[in-house]
Amino acid sequence: MTLKAYQHKRKFDQTPEPSPSLPGKLGLGAHRPKKKLIFVVQKHHASRLHYDFRLEQDGVLRSWAVPKGPSMDPTIKRLAMQVEDHPLAYARFHGTIPPGNYGAGTVAIWDHGTYEPLLVKPDELKIRLHGKKLTGEFALVRMKGRPRQWLLIKHRDQTH
Ligand code: MN
Repeated sequence: MTLKAYQHKRKFDQTPEPSPSLPGKLGLGAHRPKKKLIFVVQKHHASRLHYDFRLEQDGVLRSWAVPKGPSMDPTIKRLAMQVEDHPLAYARFHGTIPPGNYGAGTVAIWDHGTYEPLLVKPDELKIRLHGKKLTGEFALVRMKGRPRQWLLIKHRDQTH
């Protein structure tokens, strides 16, 4: 995993988003033994409204853009487009990305919390989320032949 794509897309003298080259100003360093893994969902009013779903994995935030947002309904599958990994400090980011910059618009934290990885495979993740809005088991499944397209699906469990 690398943050090069994240870095190349942004001008850090213009956007308030965290630069990966700076130390974790938000206290979210990569080396956090025994700490719980975090997730965040950011509501992003860019050229099109979407929700950015991010899971801490190997010291970065693995990220997907979910156009319709996550659903707690197990009968609903939501398209989730994998995007570039983001730095851990991005989990606390909210604010305005100025016009002319990548992702220009406003970012608000929609939900956040910790998660447990239940299954981690190249084409499938099963996770248990402990957020405010999102709780319980979810699956992310990569669509065959479409490397960046995944489906985000709520599993039936005791929380639903
Ligand atoms: Mn976004």
